[in-house]
Amino acid sequence: MQLDLGSDPRTDILRRMHAALIKKFDRIVRPDDKRRDPMWTLVQGVIGAQAKTAVSNANTDRLIADYGSWEKVLEAPTETLTVKLKTATFPSIAAERLQACLQEIIAQRGAAKLDHLETLDTADAMAWLETLPGVARKISAGVMNTSQFNRRALVLDAGHRRVVQRMGLVPGKADTARAYDALMPILPPEWSAEDMDEHHLLSKRLAQTLCRPKKPDCASCPVRSDCETGR
Ligand code: SF4
Repeated sequence: MQLDLGSDPRTDILRRMHAALIKKFDRIVRPDDKRRDPMWTLVQGVIGAQAKTAVSNANTDRLIADYGSWEKVLEAPTETLTVKLKTATFPSIAAERLQACLQEIIAQRGAAKLDHLETLDTADAMAWLETLPGVARKISAGVMNTSQFNRRALVLDAGHRRVVQRMGLVPGKADTARAYDALMPILPPEWSAEDMDEHHLLSKRLAQTLCRPKKPDCASCPVRSDCETGR
C-alpha cells in the first residue's frame, strides 16, 4: 500500500509553524561555507554534550588546528586532551568519548574518515553512526544534515524536542530517537535538507526564547494556535 506522506494533519501544522517562526525570528539559513567536513561535525557533536554550540565549535577547531589530524587526536594522552577541552561542560568525559569514537572509526575504516557514508542511504548511514561510542540520534542526524553531506534528516536537540512535545506533534515522553521517528514521516515532502536545517534552528530559537523549560511564554508565541499546550 502506498502511504500518502503529506496527508497527516501534522504536516500542515509543521508548514504553518515554519512560516510563523520565520515571521517571528526571520530567516536562519546556514551558509554553504558553514557546512563542515562530516568528521568535524561528528567530533563537534561528540564533545558537545550540554555545551553551547559556539564553545563546541571553538573546541573542535582548536583540536584539529593543534593536532593536524583526528588520528593524532586519538594518539594524544587523554589527560592532555582533557585540558584542551577544559571549556567543554564535561571535559574528561568529552575526551574519553572522543577517543573511543575515533578508535572505533579507525579500527573499522582504517582512517578517521566517513567517506563510505556517501554511498549509503541516510537511514543506513545514521544507523552506522549510532554504533559508534558517544553517538546517538541527535549527532547522527547532525552529521547527515548539517555537514557537507547535506541530507534530509531533522536534528532534534532537547529544546526542539520540548517544543514538538508541547505542541502535541510527538508523544510527550518520546526520547530523541522516537521523536525523530515520529516526525520524519510527517515532514512536508517538499522540504529540502536546507529547510530541515532551518526548521531546527528556528525551533531551537523558539525553545530558547519563549518555550523555555519553565513558564513558557505562550501568550507571545507565534505557534500558539497550533499548540496543544498553548491553546
Ligand atoms: S504555545 Fe507555549 S507551549 Fe506551545 S510552543 Fe509556544 S511557548 Fe511552547
